[in-house]
Amino acid sequence: MSKKPGLTVLAGPTAVGKGTVSTYIRDNYPEVWLSVSATTRAPRPGEQDGVHYFFKSKEEFESLVAAGEFLEWAVVHGQNTYGTLRSSVDEAIAAGRSVLLEIDLQGARQVKQAVPDAQFVFLAPPSWDEMVRRLVGRGTETEQEQQQRLETAKLELAAEPEFNHTVINDDVRRAADELVSLMGLTPHPH
Ligand code: 5GP
Repeated sequence: MSKKPGLTVLAGPTAVGKGTVSTYIRDNYPEVWLSVSATTRAPRPGEQDGVHYFFKSKEEFESLVAAGEFLEWAVVHGQNTYGTLRSSVDEAIAAGRSVLLEIDLQGARQVKQAVPDAQFVFLAPPSWDEMVRRLVGRGTETEQEQQQRLETAKLELAAEPEFNHTVINDDVRRAADELVSLMGLTPHPH
């Protein structure tokens, strides 16, 4: 498959495993330039500033918004704010890198407005039950947060037709390999 550098956006419902797929790609596919988002969310155990996210105060985030620094940004699950810094993505694309954004659906829609010829990939769960099982199983949200995320997920599942491709996250490695193939890169032998 020919190399097709440029911008690919990965979105999908909550707890579908977007984070797991992008972590797998960060660890195994250095040829993919995975964007590091800014967020007002507090770091989870093991998360490092500048690696998983740029952790910002609300005030810092607001100044970046005011300065027009974000390609897209959104309040996700009615709680914290997340955004993609424009300059780093522009530089990576200009350098000919294959750039991947792992963002929520609202953000994906903003990127579609700004960069219509980007590639949009929807990561889908194998089933609704599996998605609920994963969300409850990871135990990082309170019960109220889980309910909120499942409500969001219902709306998000309906957005699949807006995307160029769907990848089913039945297995993280397989899904990651399919995604890198869609990005025009060659999946590694395992
Ligand atoms: P988490 O807090 O679990 O790391 O991420 C929560 C949600 O925020 C996920 O759905 C993830 O895709 C989304 N997200 C992460 N970074 C960004 C970003 O830069 N922009 C937008 N719009 N959503 C993001």
